Amino acid sequence: MTTTTRSQVIFDNYNPAGRNRLMAHQVPVRDVLREFGEDYGSRVFSGSNMERRISGQSFDKLEQTIRYGTKLDDEIADEIAEAMKEWAIENGCTHYCHWFQPLTGATAEKHDSFLNFGSGGGVLAEFSGESLIRGEPDASSFPSGGIRDTFEARGYTAWDPTSPAFISFNGGEATLCIPTCFVSWTGESLDQKTPLLRSIEALNTHAMRIVRMYGSDEGVHRVASTLGCEQEYFLVDEELWSMRPDLMLCGRTIIGADSPKGHQLDDHYFGSIPSRVQAFMGDVEERLYLLGIPAKTRHNEVAPAQFELAPLFESTNVACDHQMLTMSVLKKVAREHGLVCLLHEKPFAGVNGSGKHNNWSLSTDKGRNLLSPKKTMHENLEFLTIVAAVVRAIDLHADMLRASIANAANDLRLGANEAPPAIISIFAGHMLQTMIDELKSGSAIDRAEGSTLHLGPDSVPPIERHSGDRNRTSPFAFTGNKFEFRAVGSQASVAWPNTVLNTIIAESLDHIATRFEEAIDSDMDRSARDEEFCRILAELMEAHDRVVFNGDNYSAEWKKEAKRRGMPNLVSTADALPAFSTNKAQVLFEAYGVMSAGELQARVDVLHENYASVLAIEARTMVNMVNTLIIPAAARYQSELAEAVGSAMKAGVEPEALQARLSELVERTNELYAGCTAIGEALDKCQTIKGDEKRTKAVRTKLLPAMETTRSACDSIEAIVSNDLWPLPSYTDLMFSSLV
Ligand code: ADP
Ligand code: MG
Repeated sequence: MTTTTRSQVIFDNYNPAGRNRLMAHQVPVRDVLREFGEDYGSRVFSGSNMERRISGQSFDKLEQTIRYGTKLDDEIADEIAEAMKEWAIENGCTHYCHWFQPLTGATAEKHDSFLNFGSGGGVLAEFSGESLIRGEPDASSFPSGGIRDTFEARGYTAWDPTSPAFISFNGGEATLCIPTCFVSWTGESLDQKTPLLRSIEALNTHAMRIVRMYGSDEGVHRVASTLGCEQEYFLVDEELWSMRPDLMLCGRTIIGADSPKGHQLDDHYFGSIPSRVQAFMGDVEERLYLLGIPAKTRHNEVAPAQFELAPLFESTNVACDHQMLTMSVLKKVAREHGLVCLLHEKPFAGVNGSGKHNNWSLSTDKGRNLLSPKKTMHENLEFLTIVAAVVRAIDLHADMLRASIANAANDLRLGANEAPPAIISIFAGHMLQTMIDELKSGSAIDRAEGSTLHLGPDSVPPIERHSGDRNRTSPFAFTGNKFEFRAVGSQASVAWPNTVLNTIIAESLDHIATRFEEAIDSDMDRSARDEEFCRILAELMEAHDRVVFNGDNYSAEWKKEAKRRGMPNLVSTADALPAFSTNKAQVLFEAYGVMSAGELQARVDVLHENYASVLAIEARTMVNMVNTLIIPAAARYQSELAEAVGSAMKAGVEPEALQARLSELVERTNELYAGCTAIGEALDKCQTIKGDEKRTKAVRTKLLPAMETTRSACDSIEAIVSNDLWPLPSYTDLMFSSLV
């Protein structure tokens, strides 16, 4: 095995029961870093791992496919499969799997050993090009949104050579994992990756037209989106977690009274990291480094027990796969530390929820960021063209972008005064806003420069200041050289929002490129062409910059103003999802070869289905907890109080306070009981409703309110029942007691 001493310790110590808390950092950090110099990415079949094992010619061919998206030469598949197998076996693998991302939102894998019959009898370890390129998992138990009937089971996985194969370690077992697309026998996509790859192609086609138009395409073969996702998460103690059915089944607390302390003091954000958590983070990073995932930033987030991890950005397809792996590593490593990582968007009511800031930009294959403003007017025009494409795309398709992040969990976050609101607007900031204004007024477009800040004492070196401030309330913010889509949910796959983002921007780039082509002719000199481009861009900004908003997105005035500007405010999943069922959406996805109308509708069906299922699970968990945990606790406390009241009366005193408490408890318990009955009725009703949109709406308007009333009764009981009788760890226990 080519692992480090330290990781060896960790993997050998892996204890499936998840209680091993002794994984101390025994190796000094500098040694770890030195070791990682060599070991970084050692569990990934790429770079030198690959180059050493295959012929120069095949390596070059595969590189072409990886870098430029060219068609893979079938002839080399056998050689690559053989090399992958040798490498995997050297690293302790006995099995391989096609790793894919069905519409469940999770990843899936079916393992096969390398074992096969040899031609002369006996058995041998074998992995053919065919097995690398194509797998055949049974597709019948994955959501297909009605694309397939349940008896139609055939599905295929197809190798995606642009995302490197890797070795996963689980329970001490090593498995070769090959990233793949997942499609049905009819060729329709059943996964997150296939449409994403198609959207990346569409983006490349039209972004290249723009780059060529500006003559900045020398040596450029491709333009692709880049992606860096900041992942927020909570950590709770595993023992406390296992005492809460709601955390175990739903990933969030569905009941729970407020803790007196939340994040009012802002003392957790960027605070010193608790040592137990830091040990966890170190192990997470180590696993990620081995997988070639460039984890970069770690810190405490706003809420107590909330943290963040951000990687260096990568090409979108690889970044999406890495994001799925990162979530899985976070969850697994947490258990090894006796912790549970909650990736849910809103584990605790009343405190900050978790998102996944989706940092998006466009880059040429030579590494030039097209969203990086330049000094000269000509270069800035190219930058402004991309900005105009983004502004136009978001203005025209804000509804779809909103729908791309809609689910039951994210509904709990969007619109609350802590997360970006459901109105999708763009924050431009001082520098970009100035450029947009200059463009519209026809004056020279210069990049606003930053300045220097002097802090007083000479001993403190002066620091460079950016040309504009930041805005944390915006759902889609320009942050200097990229856009940050901040409304994405923390447990969501980022593939789908990026598929939508890439597609709507490809359409705008196409629109602009076509208008440019029509406006110029071959005898125009450069400045005449630039003038034409400026005119078109100014027109586009004029038409679409209502979507730009630089103020406070949380304010009530913005809601009014957005309405006045005619911008959609789709507050819930029920309001948002219909955006995908429009003719506009179908035409768009079809025109750019991303999804057929059938594939799109299937996805929407799955999203509706998921919404209803998630809430049904939550409702049933709630009823179960109330019946088996909360009402019994309330009954016990009721008897205690009744007894105390009785003894006081016997002793000749009037226990007014206790009597009032007793009546309150009885009243709240009655409400709780009534709430559960209402939930049961709403569940029954929702089940009978035909039609996805109708059912989603009914779940939102009938089931959710019943759950909210029940929760409120439950939380007020929690606030008065004796601590020793309360059967669940409280918010204070979960967020404050165990992470130090
Ligand atoms: P913030 O201050 O917004 O919290 P972080 O440093 O936590 O910033 O995260 C910024 C994220 O943006 C990182 O994941 C980083 O890789 C990503 N990023 C930076 N530049 C680009 C780019 N050109 N394209 C895509 N993502 C980028
Ligand atoms: Mg951050």
